[in-house]
Amino acid sequence: MKSLSKLHAEKGIWMVENPLPEMGHNDITIKIRKTAICGTDMHIYNWDEWSQNTIPVPMIVGHEYVGEVVAIGSEVKGFKKGDRVSGEGHITCGHCRNCRAGRIHLCRNTTGVGVDRQGAFAEYLVIPAFNAFKIPDNISDDMAAIFDPFGNAVHTALSFDLVGEDVLITGAGPIGIMAAAVAKHVGARHVVITDINSYRLELALKMGATRAVNVADSSLADVMQELNMTEGFDVGLEMSGVPSAFSDMLNKMNHGGKIAMLGIPPSGLAINWNDVIFKGLTIKGIYGREMFETWYKMVSLLQSGLNLDPIITHSMPVDNFKEGFDIMGSGQSGKVLLDWSA
Ligand code: NAD
Ligand code: ZN
Repeated sequence: MKSLSKLHAEKGIWMVENPLPEMGHNDITIKIRKTAICGTDMHIYNWDEWSQNTIPVPMIVGHEYVGEVVAIGSEVKGFKKGDRVSGEGHITCGHCRNCRAGRIHLCRNTTGVGVDRQGAFAEYLVIPAFNAFKIPDNISDDMAAIFDPFGNAVHTALSFDLVGEDVLITGAGPIGIMAAAVAKHVGARHVVITDINSYRLELALKMGATRAVNVADSSLADVMQELNMTEGFDVGLEMSGVPSAFSDMLNKMNHGGKIAMLGIPPSGLAINWNDVIFKGLTIKGIYGREMFETWYKMVSLLQSGLNLDPIITHSMPVDNFKEGFDIMGSGQSGKVLLDWSA
């Protein structure tokens, strides 16, 4: 089968033929229709320090996808051939304390599709049936292909009550922008988003943010004043991984504010702990999606009218993957889709 593989320990990704993946008795095989390029795939493409320490080579990468079930393991219940599915990319162990307690997203033995095991940038993907998620008919292939990052946005945004609250989102990457749309949809009052990339800030405005602030040339404090927000933000969603963005967030939170942190900062990040302590802030780390509450919530958000269509800015046949990675790397995009069905 055709696959996009990290063949060599250097920058790039290569289209190669691979044998069909083997399926176990609890697995399903998915024929991939569409995939999306994630920030993680860009790290792997660029072969940065994290990838060098994490990714075994060769490895078929990718974990954002939609496809069709074409084969089913002998022990699998609840799926049939032809089901349209996406899937949870975190494969959990089932026997650790958290798994056994039903807190599956907190499994200490999580492995990742397209990171520690063969990924979805291929004609066929095998995953445990447990991880597959059926997509209702009224949700498009394009939307289903981005359920993984949409799920990061939903898990983070819905960590705290947003109704009537003033929300600060730092980082208008695809996930930050989707979080802004979700926050507005569920009833936040002001949703202010920051970045240094004006293309993405424009997109965030189009998708429902109250204000989009380019912190390279404008001040968040001024925008807060314009919005008459004298006391600070109630909820912060950190989605940049940039230390200065996080510091600014801590500084702009109201007393008793709550922060959900998805962005991955460099190790050894120093912050002003006085902001945390004297304001009584709560900070919650977010990893992945809740299994499978976040998935059900994504479906209902879309079915209740949340429109994420503008986040998909580019779509192309997989043979043009180089162009796709270039566009994603340029920062002048939302999500970029690769079509495998052509
Ligand atoms: P992304 O890299 O596309 O977005 C990050 C954005 O932050 C970019 O648009 C960048 O321009 C912006 N930025 C840079 N400097 C800034 C500043 N000073 N202030 C505000 N914004 C600034 O990433 P993404 O795919 O949208 O993901 C968001 C973050 O979440 C990344 O850090 C990613 O590594 C992380 N992530 C975490 C998980 C998890 O499970 N915890 C899952 C997926 C992604
Ligand atoms: Zn576990």
